[in-house]
Amino acid sequence: MVPILQRRSLSLGGGQGFAQITRQDSNCSLPGSSGCLGLSYNISKKQPSLFWNCQPPTTTLANLYTKLQAARSQCHVDVAFWGGLIPGNTAELKPMMKAGVPGFKCFLIDSGVEEFPSVGAQDVHSAMRELQGTDCVLLFHAEEDVDAEKSGGGGGGGGGEPSQYSTFLASRPDVMEVEAIRTVSELCLQYKVRCHIVHLSTAQALPIIREARQKGAPLTVETTHHYLSLAAQHVPPGGTQYKCCPPIRSKCNQDQLWRALQEGDIDLVISDHSPCTADLKHLESGDFLQAWGGISSLQLVLPLFWTSARRRGFSLHDVVRFMCKNPAKLSGLAAQKGALCPGQDADLVIWDPEKEFEVKESMIQHKNKLTPYLGFRLHGEVFATVVHGNLVYLNGEFSPVPQGNLLLVK
Ligand SMILES: [Zn+2]
Repeated sequence: MVPILQRRSLSLGGGQGFAQITRQDSNCSLPGSSGCLGLSYNISKKQPSLFWNCQPPTTTLANLYTKLQAARSQCHVDVAFWGGLIPGNTAELKPMMKAGVPGFKCFLIDSGVEEFPSVGAQDVHSAMRELQGTDCVLLFHAEEDVDAEKSGGGGGGGGGEPSQYSTFLASRPDVMEVEAIRTVSELCLQYKVRCHIVHLSTAQALPIIREARQKGAPLTVETTHHYLSLAAQHVPPGGTQYKCCPPIRSKCNQDQLWRALQEGDIDLVISDHSPCTADLKHLESGDFLQAWGGISSLQLVLPLFWTSARRRGFSLHDVVRFMCKNPAKLSGLAAQKGALCPGQDADLVIWDPEKEFEVKESMIQHKNKLTPYLGFRLHGEVFATVVHGNLVYLNGEFSPVPQGNLLLVK
């Protein structure tokens, strides 16, 4: 039996989508990137100086066109672009939206990337006013700085040993997410503009999300595979390949996230693929506080999710809902992507959900191979990938000609 699944076609992040990353301290993948299946990495060869760390950020209409131009004929899968909200670019939002950007990501905390500063309350209020009455969605990296009293002394690492994961974890306590999500929920209720929490890590924020939704907030939320597959207890000293923001938390927290999926409190599961070169992970010193924050997993997300999900009683239909249907809805692509029915793109994954394999570096297709999943035994091997009817991957080989389209959402 070879079940088929539709693969999501729009990546939320992927700081490595355009080039080798040179920044040292970014916490999170940036918007506007490609990266599905890690197949558009050669773009940088054309204009290497322009696209460091996914630069320029998709925060102006001109930058969007620059990226579209660079990505043309380079992508093996269909790719759309999120925009970015930064201080002072409110006037760019509607033009970018009209050009085909489905929404805008912003950071409520320092992103670690100079060109992508975080927004303050006034920036968000003005963006909300600008987007009221549209179907556009604002995506929030939901962590914010909190005072020492609220954080219980966390927030700076507490002077612990930097190669211990617990030191890093203490520097990004749950309350930073909880307070940011409280802020987003209030704004969402006030303006009734679609809001989305990207990469939710802490289960402690779920009651706030639930309550806001009950009150009518058009609020959605996603989590990622690293929070569902990895736990703080298992991160080895110096294992900076496990660093991402918000951080991977306890096994107990992980179980609560799975329960939230079961109960419909989390809508989708995405990759938050955010690779970097090995040197940026500071593997020699194993310094969690200095290392790049981001995890590579794009190629592995289907077997990663399926391996745990089936053990927990989820079905293939659930996988499709979390990884295809709901991401397509969020991205304004539901008329084209996310289901197998007449009129939709014939995007298929042909795979063997029973086949078990071990993750080895030699099979990783990402440009930078570092991943916390090396050695994992996973169920579900992809045999072929079809994008709008065209075979783009078969048994380890890619189509010689990229066949992905650039998607503009109208
Ligand atoms: Zn983020």
